[in-house]
Amino acid sequence: MNKFDYMAKYGYEQLVYFYDKETGLKGIICIHDTTLGPALGGTRLWNYASEEEAVEDVLRLARGMTYKNAVAGLNLGGGKTVLIGDPDKVKTEAYWRAFGRYVQSLNGRYITAEDVNTNTNDMDYIAMETSHITGLEKTSGDPSPFTALGVYWGMRASCLEMYGSNELKDKKVLVQGVGQVGYNLVKLLVQDGAKVFISDIKQEKIDRVTREFPVTVVPFNEIFKGSYDIFAPCAMGAIINDETIPQFKFKIICGSANNVLKEERHGVVLQNKGILYAPDYVVNAGGVINVYQEIIGYDSQEATKKVKKIYDKVLDIFKISKEKQITPSQAANYLAEERIRTIRNVRSNYIKR
Ligand code: NAD
Repeated sequence: MNKFDYMAKYGYEQLVYFYDKETGLKGIICIHDTTLGPALGGTRLWNYASEEEAVEDVLRLARGMTYKNAVAGLNLGGGKTVLIGDPDKVKTEAYWRAFGRYVQSLNGRYITAEDVNTNTNDMDYIAMETSHITGLEKTSGDPSPFTALGVYWGMRASCLEMYGSNELKDKKVLVQGVGQVGYNLVKLLVQDGAKVFISDIKQEKIDRVTREFPVTVVPFNEIFKGSYDIFAPCAMGAIINDETIPQFKFKIICGSANNVLKEERHGVVLQNKGILYAPDYVVNAGGVINVYQEIIGYDSQEATKKVKKIYDKVLDIFKISKEKQITPSQAANYLAEERIRTIRNVRSNYIKR
């Protein structure tokens, strides 16, 4: 589809291409919607095969951030940056500072943070040229424990919905991917007395968890053989698809991985199979809730309190899903769109400040 038609159809505000002559920096910033506040979303550095692929990615990711920030109750819109380049080759101080200057040129309409292939060291360079940045080491730090905490509360809400009790004790939970989020999630689950099963493609990640916690390891290629109460996908997206769903023997799916439903219709297939799905972008919002706190004045206790509210949010979503006879992901989208619509209307009158 023509870019302007696509932007009009899905309500995009701005798409900014930039190129730096000195460093060869090439990238695109996309601002989807700023009704609720400045657009916040991370910077992804990826060796895209084509410019087209990069634009499609930034458009999709920026819109996803609008929904995520809206449902999380943050006063933030949605945006994203993609940088086109080889992460092993392009990173220099000058590269990041050149990027920081483009972020600054948007005058606060867009706030950046980390994403795939960008880290706190890179953020420190960007911060030399712009104040519109979050996720710095010296303030909110690593978002993963907060993301894991949000998934944990999403899981407890899902248990309340499915079993009538929010206790995780003795629940069989399968965690796919024990990287930064998965590791922290396992810690919380073990503390609550859940029976935890883990799977990862990297032995060192498995070893780190088995050294510290009483868990059972499941080979990554046999992950769907057993039956579990809860499946927590914390590795990669599109794991819920036509091939995997027939193998599922779970009651609940709740994890941190983004875009786990390969297609929207897979949410309907899960519902028909009696599996309760806690929408990914709702339960994995702990990280963004934590960085938002950085913008309004960092306080980790305050951030923790806000992340726990994911529990109530997930219950609201299940309620809407039942009332409207839609899937939980459709209910989450509804909640996001309603919040944006009503706040836009509330602000339509003139008030002198
Ligand atoms: P990570 O890279 O630290 O961990 C991912 C783990 O998954 C790795 O240990 C990797 O070896 C493993 N893995 C990959 N493919 C696998 C497979 N087929 N089977 C089993 N394990 C596999 O990443 P992370 O920061 O923990 O994030 C996990 C997911 O959550 C990602 O999808 C990420 O986008 C999403 N997420 C993370 C955060 C955050 O705060 N880190 C926030 C929101 C969403």
